[in-house]
Formats: sequence, C-alpha cells, structure tokens
Amino acid sequence: MEALVYHGAGDLRVEERRTPRAGPGEVLVRVRACGICGTDLRIAAGSHRAYPDGTVRVPGHEIAGEVAAVGDGVDLEEGTPVFVAPNVGCGQCRQCRQGRVNLCATPTALGITLDGGFSTHVLVPAAGVEQGNVMPLERPLDPAAVSVVEPLACVLRGQAPCDIQPEDVVLIIGAGPIGLLHMLAAKVRGPAAIVVSEPSPARREQAAAWGADRTVDPGSEDLAEALGPDGADVVIVAAPVGPAQAQALALAAGGGRINFFGGLPKDRSEVALDTNLIHYKELLVTGTTANTKEDCRAALDLVVGGAVDVGRLVTARLELADADAAFEAARSGEALKVVIEP
Ligand SMILES: [Zn+2]
Ligand SMILES: [Zn+2]
Repeated sequence: MEALVYHGAGDLRVEERRTPRAGPGEVLVRVRACGICGTDLRIAAGSHRAYPDGTVRVPGHEIAGEVAAVGDGVDLEEGTPVFVAPNVGCGQCRQCRQGRVNLCATPTALGITLDGGFSTHVLVPAAGVEQGNVMPLERPLDPAAVSVVEPLACVLRGQAPCDIQPEDVVLIIGAGPIGLLHMLAAKVRGPAAIVVSEPSPARREQAAAWGADRTVDPGSEDLAEALGPDGADVVIVAAPVGPAQAQALALAAGGGRINFFGGLPKDRSEVALDTNLIHYKELLVTGTTANTKEDCRAALDLVVGGAVDVGRLVTARLELADADAAFEAARSGEALKVVIEP
C-alpha cells in the first residue's frame, strides 16, 4: 500500500508499505478520502504530544472508504462504504465507562496513536470494530464529504451542552472551516438568528452566502452593538483567540451557554475572565474536545440524511503523491477543507 508517513517535524514521506492483514475482529478499510485538519498540521510541524521524537506513523483521522477485508468474527461485507470514527477508548477506565472515550486515560486513535488514513489502507483494531467505530453508510456518498463527518462530530459535541433553541440568538466567533461547520450545524436547530464574527472579508462573505443572518467584522464593528442589548443566548468560540473567550462572557445573554470550542496555543492558554459575568448572568461555560463514536453517529446521520451539506466545505482534493501541496493548502487557510484521496 501507499502511505504518507511522518518521520519527524516537517518530514512527511510517501512510502510503499506492506498492506496490513485483518486479524480476528479487525477490519481493513480501503481509504477513499481523508481530510487534513489543524491536528494534522500540528503533527506535521512536530508539535503534537502523541508524536514525540522518533515517532514513525501515518497520520490522518478523518477517514472515509470502504471495507477491503475483515478478520474472523466481523459481520461486514467487503465493498461496503464506511465512515471510520477515529477514537477508540480502552473501554475500561472511568471515562470510557461513562461514555467519554475522547477523555480516555490511555487513548488510542487512528492517525494519532495508530496508523491513520493518509494511506490507501487503514487497519481498524478489534476494539474499535467491537465498539462500532466502523460505520456502514446507508447509501453511497462522496467519500470526501463523508470524511468531514469527523470534524462535524466535534462540532456537535461542542453544541450539545449549548442546547440551541428556536428563540436563541447564536453567536459564532470565527468563520474558518470549523466556524462554518458550527454555523451549518446550528442552522439545523432553527435558532432565531445566527451572527458570525470574523475578521477575514472572504470568510465573512462565505458565512453570509451559507446562511449567517448577520456577519460582523470584529476589527471595525462593535459586536455588542450588533447583538443588541439582549446579547447572544449561545456563544461558540471557534477561534484560537484568548480575548475572544473573555469577550464571549460579556456578549452572552442571561442564561447564556458558551462553548470554548478551539484550544488555545499552549503558551497563551491563560486568559483573565470576569467570573462575575458567569455568576450574575448564570452562564454555562463549557469546553469540549474531539468526539466520541456517538457524536460521529449523530454527525453521520445529519450528513447521510442531507440535513447538513458538508460536501461544500471540500474545496481541494489531492492525491497522496501531492501531500506536500495538500498540507500547504491547508496551512495557508485559503482552502476550506483539504481532502487527500489516496
Ligand atoms: Zn480533525
Ligand atoms: Zn479508557
């Protein structure tokens, strides 16, 4: 098989590797599409904690493809189109038992701790198969679109505690690919209005074209004024910007729900927050990270059912051999979602 292999910071190589065999309980997936996300850029730059010095591994965790082979005891047919949820918990620890495999103390995840999807084939371990991480599609769909189910699952996890209601004004800070996914997912809940704050004119235009009720340039406009005296019932911070987190508390309405979706840079993760705003407005401030199989299932249902058209986020498709260009396109921020089609 052909795979994009991490050998160190800035050193990704396309290599010929032995195709794994599906052992008992395992599934070998023929990868048709695997999206590049911020995590992959961190991995490529050598700054991901699951890729310490000396790591040689295939990244890629936004995986769509079809079943190529199954091991003993697996009830899946070859050729079945599938989405693969990347996070496999140990199944034993307290977090796993409570359904938060994304917080597992000894996590395993395709593309993070295991070889992932930037490859013609990926082997799903028996624990993942048993937990239901290989999800057959009810109908064939563009694999590139299916790969976006993974970030959509993260987005749904972020919105779950925000519980968007029909009367709500939703503020989304940041209109990169993730902010846009938040917007599309929020729309499914039918809120009164979605306001998107984003400094880039091109991204604001994109958000407006895809259904934002109002877009705001935080550089030249006053967000508080744009929201009016009531503020926003739901604020999602989809930008790695500390001051935006502090601002979210000020912009939230009484009883507001806030999700700090994106992590901040390691050396800038301390932010001064006016906690009186949390107290006197009874705010619910939440954080979420990654996703579980259940989040993936919910996201897949939205995509397969046609409620969220994630395919339009895919603005670049490249082959494994063009991985350098693909990563460059993802890094530049000009493309929305870059997908490698091995
Ligand atoms: Zn991702
Ligand atoms: Zn666990």
